[in-house]
Amino acid sequence: MTHDVIVIGGSYAGMAAALQLLRARRKVLVVDAGKRRNRFADASHGFLGQDGVNPGEIARRAKEQLAAYPTLTWIEETAEQAEGRKDAFVVTAADGVRHDGRRLLFATGVSDTLPEIEGLGERWGKNIFHCPYCHGYELDQGRIGCIATGPMSLHQAQLLPEWGEVTLFLNGAFAPDAEQRADLAARGVTIEETLVARLEGEADVRLADGRLLQFAGLFTATRVSPSSRIAEQLGCAIEETLFGTQIQTDAMKETTVPGAFACGDAARIPHSVSLAVGDGAWAGAQLHRSLVF
Ligand SMILES: Cc1cc2nc3c(=O)[nH]c(=O)nc-3n(C[C@H](O)[C@H](O)[C@H](O)COP(=O)(O)OP(=O)(O)OC[C@H]3O[C@@H](n4cnc5c(N)ncnc54)[C@H](O)[C@@H]3O)c2cc1C
Repeated sequence: MTHDVIVIGGSYAGMAAALQLLRARRKVLVVDAGKRRNRFADASHGFLGQDGVNPGEIARRAKEQLAAYPTLTWIEETAEQAEGRKDAFVVTAADGVRHDGRRLLFATGVSDTLPEIEGLGERWGKNIFHCPYCHGYELDQGRIGCIATGPMSLHQAQLLPEWGEVTLFLNGAFAPDAEQRADLAARGVTIEETLVARLEGEADVRLADGRLLQFAGLFTATRVSPSSRIAEQLGCAIEETLFGTQIQTDAMKETTVPGAFACGDAARIPHSVSLAVGDGAWAGAQLHRSLVF
């Protein structure tokens, strides 16, 4: 069977796109490896109507609603390779099965490169975050530690006082100049120059000189890149963003390969569930139009 659209990545963006296509009675294959970016967090915030709901539960409910449409095929697999061209794409899954589709949608999300600090990985999404809009409110205006990863951390440290009293750990990642130091001071941010040794407790920072500083929560700016290289291997251009790299698309969410589209975190900044869903809904409509006109 030739599918109208093969959606690679069945999370918020991919499902939002698939929903539009299914409601136009199009044949959609979703190939999903099931590794949402927010799988480390217990609660998702800021998505209208689902505020505070477990992120897996939001995805489960959406998938249940999609399953009611008879033109959906869903496989739990990793898509290993995409080849071909508009109207004749072939996607090979990890089990070796080849799937034909007229259009492709990459909704594959991004991966976060975390700073290499002992104790950080296991606290990611629980006590240390990147987005204050998603997880700032719950810290109840307590003390916040911001661990720098580069000059972009300046912006994060200046924003965070909206949610609590902030200490910026430079951790050797960058050196603010006099003007930047004055800006941070004006926002009430304390600068800590001593290197971070490790994280302890819930959100405690052990410094290289032995001091232990306790916080309600921690933030750090990660660098992101597409979590799959499948679009790049097909020939889609990858572009630099403020936060890392993403798949390049035009206003219709089409990549530089005709007939192949991309949406969600993989193809836009900034990132959130709401924005991924909106981007996916738009991509779904544009894919449908490309099949009609
Ligand atoms: C710790 C943390 C907490 C967060 N908390 C919030 C929050 O509270 N509120 C909020 O709005 N946002 C939050 N976010 C951001 C949110 O997770 C993302 O914006 C959102 O998940 C993006 O959705 P997406 O569909 O584009 O990608 P994802 O949700 O990352 O999904 C991508 C999907 O594609 C699949 N995939 C990738 N490659 C392949 C392949 N080759 N074959 C098959 N499948 C593939 C993956 O397995 C995954 O299922 C958080 C992020 C992190 C890291």
